[in-house]
Amino acid sequence: MNVNQSAPPVPPFGQPQPIYPGYHQSSYGGQPGSTAAPTPYGAYNGPVPGYQHAPPPPGVSRAPPSSGAPPASTAQGPCGQNAYGQFGQGDVQNGPSSTVQMQRLPGSQPFGSAPLAPVVSQPAVLQPYGPPPTSAQVTAQLAGMQISGAVAPASPPSGLGYGPPTSLASASGNFPNSGLYGSYPQGQAPPLGQTQGHPGAQPPQRSVPPQASSFTPPASGGPRMPSMTGPHLPGQSFGGPPGSQSNHVSSPSPQALPSGTQMTGPPGPPPPMHSSQQPGYQLQQNGSFGPARGPQPNYGSPYPGAATFGSQPGPPQPLPPKRLDPDAIPSPIQVIEDDRNNRGSEPFVTGVRGQVPPLVTTNFLVKDQGNASPRYIRCTSYNIPCTSDMAKQAQVPLAAVIKPLARLPPEEASPYVVDHGESGPLRCNRCKAYMCPFMQFIEGGRRFQCCFCSCINDVPPQYFQHLDHTGKRVDAYDRPELSLGSYEFLATVDYCKNNKFPSPPAFIFMIDVSYNAIRSGLVRLLCEELKSLLDFLPREGGAEESAIRVGFVTYNKVLHFYNVKSSLAQPQMMVVSDVGDMFVPLLDGFLVNVNESRAVITSLLDQIPEMFADTRETETVFAPVIQAGMEALKAAECAGKLFLFHTSLPIAEAPGKLKNRDDRKLINTDKEKTLFQPQTGAYQTLAKECVAQGCCVDLFLFPNQYVDVATLSVVPQLTGGSVYKYACFQVENDQERFLSDLRRDVQKVIGFDAVMRVRTSTGIRAVDFFGAFYMSNTTDVELAGLDGDKTVTVEFKHDDRLNEESGALLQCALLYTSCAGQRRLRIHNLALNCCTQLADLYRNCETDTLINYMAKFAYRGVLNSPVKTVRDALITQCAQILACYRKNCASPSSAGQLILPECMKLLPVYLNCVLKSDVLQPGAEVTTDDRAYVRQLVISMDVAETNVFFYPRLLPLTKSPIESTTEPPAVRASEERLSNGDIYLLENGLNLFLWVGASVQQGVVQSLFGVSSFSQITSGLSVLPVLDNLLSKKVRGLIDNLRAQRSRYMKLIVVKQEDKLEMLFKHFLVEDKSLSGGASYVDFLCHMHKEIRQLLS
Ligand SMILES: [Zn+2]
Repeated sequence: MNVNQSAPPVPPFGQPQPIYPGYHQSSYGGQPGSTAAPTPYGAYNGPVPGYQHAPPPPGVSRAPPSSGAPPASTAQGPCGQNAYGQFGQGDVQNGPSSTVQMQRLPGSQPFGSAPLAPVVSQPAVLQPYGPPPTSAQVTAQLAGMQISGAVAPASPPSGLGYGPPTSLASASGNFPNSGLYGSYPQGQAPPLGQTQGHPGAQPPQRSVPPQASSFTPPASGGPRMPSMTGPHLPGQSFGGPPGSQSNHVSSPSPQALPSGTQMTGPPGPPPPMHSSQQPGYQLQQNGSFGPARGPQPNYGSPYPGAATFGSQPGPPQPLPPKRLDPDAIPSPIQVIEDDRNNRGSEPFVTGVRGQVPPLVTTNFLVKDQGNASPRYIRCTSYNIPCTSDMAKQAQVPLAAVIKPLARLPPEEASPYVVDHGESGPLRCNRCKAYMCPFMQFIEGGRRFQCCFCSCINDVPPQYFQHLDHTGKRVDAYDRPELSLGSYEFLATVDYCKNNKFPSPPAFIFMIDVSYNAIRSGLVRLLCEELKSLLDFLPREGGAEESAIRVGFVTYNKVLHFYNVKSSLAQPQMMVVSDVGDMFVPLLDGFLVNVNESRAVITSLLDQIPEMFADTRETETVFAPVIQAGMEALKAAECAGKLFLFHTSLPIAEAPGKLKNRDDRKLINTDKEKTLFQPQTGAYQTLAKECVAQGCCVDLFLFPNQYVDVATLSVVPQLTGGSVYKYACFQVENDQERFLSDLRRDVQKVIGFDAVMRVRTSTGIRAVDFFGAFYMSNTTDVELAGLDGDKTVTVEFKHDDRLNEESGALLQCALLYTSCAGQRRLRIHNLALNCCTQLADLYRNCETDTLINYMAKFAYRGVLNSPVKTVRDALITQCAQILACYRKNCASPSSAGQLILPECMKLLPVYLNCVLKSDVLQPGAEVTTDDRAYVRQLVISMDVAETNVFFYPRLLPLTKSPIESTTEPPAVRASEERLSNGDIYLLENGLNLFLWVGASVQQGVVQSLFGVSSFSQITSGLSVLPVLDNLLSKKVRGLIDNLRAQRSRYMKLIVVKQEDKLEMLFKHFLVEDKSLSGGASYVDFLCHMHKEIRQLLS
């Protein structure tokens, strides 16, 4: 069996034509039901435990809507306590999962035969579609770094804190005290505009951004190219480029920020050296590497200044202190830019096994020629070590980030739907893998050998086809399942719960009508919006109207159900006050077709805000609300989604009642993990019931104070739902963000009642899963709902030796109910290469995916381990990965050199961003709810989302010509890249800032803000005025564009330089030292180098 596919002729369906010739292109509609056997998922992966639930007790109580309790002042603290919370920490997922062993095996086994890779200097980017590149190696000359053991860093306070964490006052989101954030701590503002290099070794460079400077070998190539310029000891100072004397800013006063931040100096490889103009300049303390340490012996060549680079291993010379040049270390911006330039112009054709796709930050089209698009599956490596020993040695996690229902750009075709009729999809008899392009037909086409388990299967007569002279079926290119990486099968009744075709799903809107929800204007806003939004429920194909039925519930301490049957003149309310034993008081008239019941629904939505306008009820229940929605779906025998709009900690007497257990004192203690764990197991039990029913829960939170996101989000995360959080919601400030999220959430295509299984060829198997789902066994990922934004990350381990020739195969099969109620299987196949040389592994890794996996691993780890342990494990693993490369793949070189694999040269900078993220190293302004919220959000993010979330995009707006229509090139996320004469946008997928330098030209201020001076700009502004000029249109257009790229609406915050809000903004300048003690990129790279050296010694 050999799955090494050569690129086949372009199949007829390689293009985005909607109809596949000869194949049933889904025409959706309700399926006829049939009564039957009670085996859920009979044919699929074996029986699923059915969560038996007692039938609801009868009884309907009618009561007045409001329970009229006095406003029990449940300490609804004033908003604004937490300004941070308003700045949209994103959202969602994953739940407490199984226990995680944080400590990974040290990769200590010697791996014998790995020869040293030839040191071939090579552009940062792989050749598109070509054969795997030869060894790409980056040597980072940290020769001058004085980080040998002589001076150990002061022991960091928490894992890896460089320097004492700036002591912050207790949480106070308002940043009223400029002392808190007002003065940038010393050491954080490195000299601006350093363009350091080694003129002797470098050829003049073409004009590219300064970021381009690292990692390109000099023309005068020796055997090893010092492509990273000599770093300097942090804490040493080094001169700025000539003519930008004011670059060294210690405590940035606006005037001190020179406009020279955007260095225009000759870029390219190691940037040109500028003579040190301020030789005596002492950079402020730079973390625990100590201020201005002198050069030390035994450390390769102390950075020798100009001409002697690389040839001066001799004794240290008394040099003026220097620092590691930020331009000389790997730049995310440059890597992204290079990949765009090299791989963005041609489509990515998936016909070749083991190809590394373009980066997620590159726009490219995909042509499916037998492997799943990287939009569906991305891997940490596309070349898997043949043996587990080798994998352990390298410590590179083998994982796939899978987004089964990913949305595609309009130019790419959705997966074709294949209908095999009553016999259903063809599968291997033994391992149950689905027919795919890698199955090998033999014996003239009468049998096929399974590419996963090697079992020989008979080809059913109706599927028989002759083979051509190459052994390929002559109809291979007429059948999606024989020639494409991704396709769908129509499922037969055997794949349906209870052997019965599903009913169309239902949406139930469940609205908190307690005092806070009414007072903030939320209820009125929501009801008004729903009137029009209900016309946009998801539908499939050319369906005229959505098949989805809707229902409505309002609640505080009790629940109100509404009968909105089309025959009624007015909606009817039924109150259930016995929340301890929830049941659904009505069946007929609760779930209805929107068009049929439009008049009654509109009337209801008009009445709800009025009915509760005078409520004084502040207490809410929560679990009974979900229970009620789930029971309603159960009674209607359908899957569906609950949309909960909730405001407060559910303290009313009821199942799932919670208490306020927030305690920031637990941070950095062994009990910190409890902050991430749910405070009761009741929600997990409830979630299991929901999953069994195919009841997905989306939660919109509007908290004014702690609501225990960690507990409230358990059900959403285990049911594949989403959580949205709008702290201190006020209609005037937050309605755009909320409505935008709501519209997108309601309209998005979603699969219900889903089960996902990942099969692999012999030798590896899926062992661990991350995401928003539930698992009742070790192989089946159960998803009450799955939408196009959610990913499931799967980790693989060896259970046997792999074979270079046959490679390794993954097949992800997702069984789900479409939003029209059709049962389908979506199949994604991916073939990977296998290697016996470590160098091949390191050449075919994808750092963005590695970071996605490592972040998820860490974020799940905090549920069970102290945060420090989690952080240390990350650092250790990263060091092991890089040390293994150094030891086995890089050519021999001075220990003083940091040598990074080309594909992983951003691993340190990105890992540092994960380590200093709010979950792993919270600042004082980050609340417990924020952390729980972000933790879940990240767990089901795709690779593009984690990429920008951990390393935000910073776009200068006034650098490029105003006429330019393209997005401005990003700059590195560091304060030293900001110039006070410019304006920047910063976004990370959840937050969006517009930073205005204090010396921005008056004309620019006028064009953008409609005021005449910087001082008149309102700090914290969230909407730019609509002005009729080019700049205003361009910036607003860019903002719209950025928002359109993200799955959640990013609220804009205008931040003025030196304003107190600037502290929020600086939190996202991730290359700098953070206020919470997170290391700067430069410091972290030094630290990582030290860790690697320790492993190697
Ligand atoms: Zn098989």
